[in-house]
Amino acid sequence: MSDVPKSHPRYLSLTLRDRIVEGVENGITSIHGLIAHGRGEAFDYLIGEKTQPFATDAICAAAAMLKLSNHPVISVNGNVAALAPKELIELGNILKAPLEVNIFHTESGREEKIRQHLLNNGANEVLMPSPEAQLSFIDSNRKYVHPEGIFIADVVFVPLEDGDRCEALRKMGKDVVTVDLNPMSRTALQASITIVDNVVRALPLLCEAIQKQSSDSDLQHKSTHYRNEDILQQALQHISRSSDG
Ligand code: ATP
Ligand code: MG
Repeated sequence: MSDVPKSHPRYLSLTLRDRIVEGVENGITSIHGLIAHGRGEAFDYLIGEKTQPFATDAICAAAAMLKLSNHPVISVNGNVAALAPKELIELGNILKAPLEVNIFHTESGREEKIRQHLLNNGANEVLMPSPEAQLSFIDSNRKYVHPEGIFIADVVFVPLEDGDRCEALRKMGKDVVTVDLNPMSRTALQASITIVDNVVRALPLLCEAIQKQSSDSDLQHKSTHYRNEDILQQALQHISRSSDG
């Protein structure tokens, strides 16, 4: 790890870079993940590196949708495993939802390394992709899923997702909750709920929102009155604000 003083104005950003680099060194994160992270950083800079109101609204709706779901599953890739393993496990525990590894680049046993990393961080069970169950509408390696996980899920939580798979999941009739700093990505546009925020800030807030007591009718209201297009529009307006905004 590099020696970044806490007083450094870019402390969090630099710490996250260290985590991603460590993920690559440990074979958890793909080298391509560094590029995806860089794209995320650029958008984080533009949104002000803070959770904005459009993200808070999406987190509220996501908490409601996940709480109301019958079979939620948390999809884990190499970037999110490196950035926030403990928070993913906490989300799984709160929702009683399994974690499932799903990655694009499967070089050198990376799926198994991610599984081990999650187990080392305290996960009880981690589902792995299997040739027995395949998603429709997708040709890449990411079509392989677990028959009792993503394959039968009604809501899939897929942070830092690739657009192709988000589209496939939606076409299969599943709801998708994503966290994506780019409000213009295909994932952001196609997901049922897009939390435009850094995954390391959004996950603890999502866990907190799920744990808040609320009635079923209140959850139903939050889930059905949510409009993702409006939230993305607000995010774009925020990004194009004047520099003092
Ligand atoms: P799409 O396929 O959805 O059009 P893309 O090809 O531009 O997206 P990918 O490389 O597939 O991007 O996925 C990475 C996405 O994750 C990017 O949109 C990036 O902004 C976002 N991202 C990267 N790091 C983070 C992070 N820490 N928190 C939230 N989002 C992030
Ligand atoms: Mg992509």
